This record gives sequence, structure tokens and C-alpha cells, in this order.
Amino acid sequence: MPVLGLGVWKTPSGRATLDSVDAALRAGYRLVDTAALYGNEADVGQALRKSGIPRDELFVTTKLWNDDQGYERALAAFRKSQAALGVGVVDLYLIHWPVDQRLESWRALRKLQRDGACRSIGVSNFMIPHLEELLQAGDVVPSVNQVEFNPFLFQRELLEYCRKHRIQLEAYAPLTRGRRLDDPVLRDIAETHHKTPAQVVLRWALQHDVVIIPKSVRTERIRENAQLFDFQLRESEMEALDRLNENLRTAWDPSNVP
Ligand code: NDP
Repeated sequence: MPVLGLGVWKTPSGRATLDSVDAALRAGYRLVDTAALYGNEADVGQALRKSGIPRDELFVTTKLWNDDQGYERALAAFRKSQAALGVGVVDLYLIHWPVDQRLESWRALRKLQRDGACRSIGVSNFMIPHLEELLQAGDVVPSVNQVEFNPFLFQRELLEYCRKHRIQLEAYAPLTRGRRLDDPVLRDIAETHHKTPAQVVLRWALQHDVVIIPKSVRTERIRENAQLFDFQLRESEMEALDRLNENLRTAWDPSNVP
């Protein structure tokens, strides 16, 4: 999968989603991360189709919302998302949160993958015990686990666990939703490289082999967030950024979900 994607949570349906996906594709992004919950799957699909970029160069992720968990409901929810997107096979379908009936939902996702309706299946917000449960329940390992991840929420143990089990970690809120971009350590490192703090936190995730899906509705920031491949953080800088961890969560914490 591409290592950089555009997130569209809170991007309003309609013009804003159409324009931000269009800006991202022009800036070189090939992955778009949406979800049934976001209410903009149809706009994402429309923007992808309109781009003229061959379908096999694009990668679209969507997610199963909590109210639709369970075997039959998950199958029906997927069909709805797939129809809204209108781009044929879905590249990656994720269980959005590890709530009740997740194992039943996972059975549905496995069927969808077997049937060729989605290329890859995975999970989101799964902590190590949720992943253990899933691995024990079946023979299919999720391709991806999408979790909140940035230097201020450096989930090292989870990263290592996923690496060991060949599950690709994907970072949401990679920019801390803008809440820590004024950190002095981060600012210093950014100045050294003539880069912005946003570019440094994104680069940090890439150097940890984590896929990133920053969200923006502004063309100039969408471009900024993609200019990550012309510099490299030194080991000492990576370590300094690792040390910024303060278990900051901007989203609901799934650690205590049984
Ligand atoms: P991000 O960390 O991507 O931050 C987005 C915020 O940062 C927006 O307010 C944006 O404002 C601002 N921003 C974007 N670029 C810059 C920049 N270069 N400098 C300063 N500020 C900037 O948070 P998200 O929560 O949106 O996470 C990214 C994506 O991850 C989501 O859009 C969604 O696709 C996914 N996600 C998945 C979840 C899950 O449960 N699986 C939960 C949450 C998110 P503006 O738009 O005005 O530029």
C-alpha cells in the first residue's frame, strides 16, 4: 500500500471532499482514507473516478462502523460503502473499533476478501489483546492496524507487536490534530532541516515504517504534508522525538475495551 494517504475525517461531504481529494491526487497522494461514519465515501469515489488516474494506481480504504458490527450487518454495510464509493473492488476494509461482535464482523470481512470484494482486510484501534484474540480465532492475519500514533503517543510495544506479526501499522492523527506542533524540540529539529513541524512528525512516522494519513482541507497544507521524501531524520533526532511521548490521546482510548 502507499505509505502516504489523505485522511478525510471531518472533511465535509460535497465540494470540500471533492477538492481536497483532487488536491491530494495532484500532489502525488494515491491513498485516501475514509469510513462509513465520515459521510463522504460517495465524494471520495467521485473524485477518484474524475481524476482519470488508472484504478490500479489508486488505493481506497473504508471502515465498518460500530452499529454495523456482526456477520450479516457487516456484509450489508460493506455493500453500502462499496456502492457509495463506486470504484469496484475496495482496496482495504477495516473494522473501525474493537467493539462487541468484532469476531463475527471479522468472519464477514474474511468472506468479503475470499469473494474478491476487497483486496485486503484489517482493523483499527486494536490493542495487543484485541489482536491476540483475532489471531487465535482464525488463520487470517489483518493486513493493517490503524491507530492513533505520533511522537506524543508513541505506542512502541504495539508497533513492535505488529511488526513481528507482519501487520502494517497505520497512523491516524499523525499531526496530533495540530495540538503539539509548537513543541520546542520539534520546532528545533524542523528548523535544522528547513522543514515544518508537521513535516517532521510525518517523517518520524515514516522512518518507523508506519503508513500516514494526514488530513487537511487546504491545498497548501496537503502539498506540505507530502513533501517528506527529500530529507531524513538522524538517529539522535528520531530518539529525541521518541522521548516526546506523553500518551496523548485526541480520540477515544481503546486500551480498556475488553
Ligand atoms: P491529523 O493529525 O491528520 O490532523 C488534522 C488537523 O491538522 C486538521 O485540523 C488540519 O486542519 C490540521 N493540519 C493539517 N495539515 C497541517 C499542517 N501542515 N500544519 C498545521 N496543521 C495542519 O488528524 P485526523 O484526526 O484528521 O487524522 C487523520 C486521518 O486519520 C483522519 O482524517 C481519518 O481519515 C483517520 N482517522 C481514523 C480514526 C480511526 O478511528 N480509525 C480516528 C481519527 C482519524 P485543516 O484541515 O484546516 O488544514
